[in-house]
Amino acid sequence: MCGIVGIVDAGDASVPLYYALYALQHRGQESAGISTFDGLRFYKHKGQGLVGEVFNEEVLSGLRGFIGVGHVRYPTTGADLPENVQPFNFRFKDHFFSIAHNGNLVNTKELRAEFEQLGEIFSTTTDTEVIASVIAHEYRRSNNIEDAIVLCMRKLRGSYAVVLLLDDTIYAFRDPLGIKPLCYGTFGEDHHIVASESVAIDAIGGTLTRDVAPGEILTIDRNGVSSTQITACSNKAHCIFEYIYFARADSVIEGRLVYDIRRKIGAYLYEEDPISADLVSPVPDSGTSLAIGYAEQSHIPYREALMKNRYMGRTFIKPSQKDRETATRIKLNPIRDHIRGRSVILIDDSIVRGTTSRHIVEMMREAGAAQVHVRIGSPPIIAPCYLGVDMPTREELIASDKDVEEVRESISATSLHHISLESLVEAIGIDIGELCIGCLSGQYPLTIEGESCFCRNIDFVKGSFQVGLESF
Ligand code: AMP
Repeated sequence: MCGIVGIVDAGDASVPLYYALYALQHRGQESAGISTFDGLRFYKHKGQGLVGEVFNEEVLSGLRGFIGVGHVRYPTTGADLPENVQPFNFRFKDHFFSIAHNGNLVNTKELRAEFEQLGEIFSTTTDTEVIASVIAHEYRRSNNIEDAIVLCMRKLRGSYAVVLLLDDTIYAFRDPLGIKPLCYGTFGEDHHIVASESVAIDAIGGTLTRDVAPGEILTIDRNGVSSTQITACSNKAHCIFEYIYFARADSVIEGRLVYDIRRKIGAYLYEEDPISADLVSPVPDSGTSLAIGYAEQSHIPYREALMKNRYMGRTFIKPSQKDRETATRIKLNPIRDHIRGRSVILIDDSIVRGTTSRHIVEMMREAGAAQVHVRIGSPPIIAPCYLGVDMPTREELIASDKDVEEVRESISATSLHHISLESLVEAIGIDIGELCIGCLSGQYPLTIEGESCFCRNIDFVKGSFQVGLESF
C-alpha cells in the first residue's frame, strides 16, 4: 500500500510530481519523497508526514529538473523509520539511481542473504532496497539496464509496481501478475506520467492512456516512450482489495471506474438480501459509493447517519482509553436526528478486526437507532495479505475463526450480510482467475511459505518494440 509516480516534463517536474502525490495521498500517509534530475545534477527531498507537510514552495523550487519520481508510503514491510522513506537514492559508477516501489516481496529474506553473500550492503529493512540492489548488481555486470531489470524480475517473488529513475530516463515496470496497479498517461504537450492510479493523472490535467501491462517495462525519456514485454502469464492476479477499498473511487483501473464497481456492489448487496429500513447510510468515507448503489437499487432513502471530520491529523496521539474515546468522537459524529427511533442500514467496505463495526453499531444504538443492519462490500476476510495490503494476522482477523452469525453477535448488529464472492467478481467485471483473492480464500497466486497456492505460470518472453504515442 504505497503510491508511486514518475514524470517527464518540459519544465520542472517537481510541481506536477507534488500534485500527483497529493492525489495519491490515500495510498500512504507515513512519508513522502521526490527525486529529480536536470541533466547534470540530482535533487532529492523526502520526509515523514503527509505530502503537504513534507513539501513546501521553497523545497519544490529547489527540486530542479525535467524528470523525476515520487512516492507516498504506508509501511507494510520495514519499520516506520526515517531511513525507510522512499524513493531510495543510490549512486554507482557515474550514475544516479532513484527507485520507488509499491508492493511487497515474499522472498526478501532469501534475496538479501543471496546478495549479502555477493558483497552487497543493505542499510534498510525494506524489500525496495533489495529490488534496487538486485538491479544495481545486475547492471554492474551487464551494463544494460533493461537486461538488469529482466534478471531482477526473474528473481523477485511478490507484488511490485516500480518507477526507477536512472539519470535522464524512467523505467516503469509491473510484476508479471499485475498485482498492484500502475498506469500511463500524458499531459501538456507530450509530457509523460506513470502513476499508481489515474487520479494522479487527472490531478495534473492529463489524460489516462492505458495501464502498464503486467510484466511490461515502459522506458520514458524526453524522446518518448518505448515498451518491452518481459513476461507472459497464464493468468494475472490483480488485487481485489484495490476495487473493494484501497483505490480512490474516481480512479479507472483496468479500464473500469472504481466508483461504478462499488455502486454495483451496493446494488448486489440489496439484491442478495433485500430488507426494508428507514434509511441507508455509509460508514464514511469508504462506504459512500456502496451505499449510493444500495439506495438506488432498494429505493430506501440515502441519508448519512454519521459525519466524518476530514481534518483529523495523522499525528493525533491516543495514549489512554479516555483519549481514544475522545479521538473517535472527534473523528465520527452520529447525526442523532437521522437515527433516533429508525431502522438503519449501515454500509462499509470491509470488516477486518471488527473494531470499526462494533464501535459504529454501538454509536448508532446510543443515538437511539431501533435497528442496525450492517452490510459489507466484501466477503469475510479470512486470511492475511502478503502482497502489499496492510492486514493483520489470522489471529486478529475476526472472520478467520468466526462465522457470519458469530461476527454479527460480536458487533451487536441486528443483521449482517457480506457480498458473495460471485457478486463481487461480477461487479468488478474481471474473471475470478485474473484476480488475487488471497485475503478472501486463503489461496494465493504465488508460492508463499506455509500457505496454499493457486499458482500462475510465468514465461519470460523478452521482446522489445518501439511505440509511438498513437499506438498506446
Ligand atoms: P476493522 O476496524 O479492523 O474491522 O477495519 C475495518 C475498517 O477499516 C473498515 O471501515 C475499512 O474501511 C477500513 N480498512 C479496511 N482495510 C484497511 C486497511 N488495510 N488499512 C486501513 N483501513 C482499512
